[in-house]
Amino acid sequence: NLDEVGMGASCENSALAVTSNPWDETMVPGGSSGGSAAAVAAGMVPFALGSDTGGSVRQPAAFCGVYGLKPTYGAVSRFGLVAYASSLEVIGVMAKTTSRTREVFACMRGQDPLDHSSLAYSPAPARNKEISVGIPALGQGSGPEAVSLHPDVAASLKKTRQALKTLGFKVREITLPSLDRVVSSYYIIAMAEASANLARFDGVRYGRRAMDADAAETPEELMRLSRSRGLGEEVKLRILLGTYVLRSGFQDRYYLRAQKIRSALRHDFQQAFGKVDLILLPTYPYPPFKKGGRALDPFGQKLADIYTCSANLAGLPAMSFPASLENGLPVGMQFMAPSFAEELLFASCARFEEYFPAPDCPPAAAGD
Ligand code: GLN
Repeated sequence: NLDEVGMGASCENSALAVTSNPWDETMVPGGSSGGSAAAVAAGMVPFALGSDTGGSVRQPAAFCGVYGLKPTYGAVSRFGLVAYASSLEVIGVMAKTTSRTREVFACMRGQDPLDHSSLAYSPAPARNKEISVGIPALGQGSGPEAVSLHPDVAASLKKTRQALKTLGFKVREITLPSLDRVVSSYYIIAMAEASANLARFDGVRYGRRAMDADAAETPEELMRLSRSRGLGEEVKLRILLGTYVLRSGFQDRYYLRAQKIRSALRHDFQQAFGKVDLILLPTYPYPPFKKGGRALDPFGQKLADIYTCSANLAGLPAMSFPASLENGLPVGMQFMAPSFAEELLFASCARFEEYFPAPDCPPAAAGD
């Protein structure tokens, strides 16, 4: 189960049903790939896949206390994936251990003649020296996109920082000046691409045809009926906003500015990776939240994509790992690395795993 077309962060935009978090059934499992994460955490499957367009593998992995890898853009074929935002998304892996995540990724990666955006995989050279980790100053922004870390996530970050030092990582402060503007850039680009990609769901070539479509007098009417009824509210909202930002005359105002932020962010990462090997960020500013939409509304959920969506805008690999339990619920942190440095992510997550392995969720829920 997942949020329809991968649009969401709670699994509550599913076209089918809402998935529960196996740690606490009143909580969401995260999203969009909440079903995958819940199934792995509950021990129903040894691993699961998901697509990560703006965090949909890493955030549910964090909410369910498992590992979640978002590979380098192009490292895994997108053939067979229902496209949401083609320039951002990549198929990722969730599992309960670093080694299993690594094994599955090793089977999936590489060039596919059926996907021209896939690349031959050439791992970044391994390094033996001590690994340096940059941690950006967080929660300083005051603009409309400012989010502050939930105290549980702040506590987990503090513990992780301390543990990394103990484990022999060299920890230093870095800056990512564009981070405060990534959410608007991400949503403009994602919605613009979604509006183009989802145009094919017209009830003729793809998508659910409206039941009474036979009554439609024209092909346009058939498509209008099918699209109005066959797609969920969040999906329609995003198609509308996507077509809005792409309207002629509006592109300078939204789409081109979003692309400029994307370039600035890439530049920030380039600078940062000139100084450190890895970047550490919380996966999400909040711990798992209650189902029902009141704990974190859809707009709040979008702002909270700040830490995950930057990896997608820059095409970089990132891996969420269980960092601690806070008030009985898992909290995840993520390492980000330069392109094709997945091995460094695995090695670093494995080192942390020795100190804090993925916790087992309460047995009452497991297997339900
Ligand atoms: N929360 C993000 C969104 O709704 C995540 C999307 C994803 O990675 N599929 O766009």
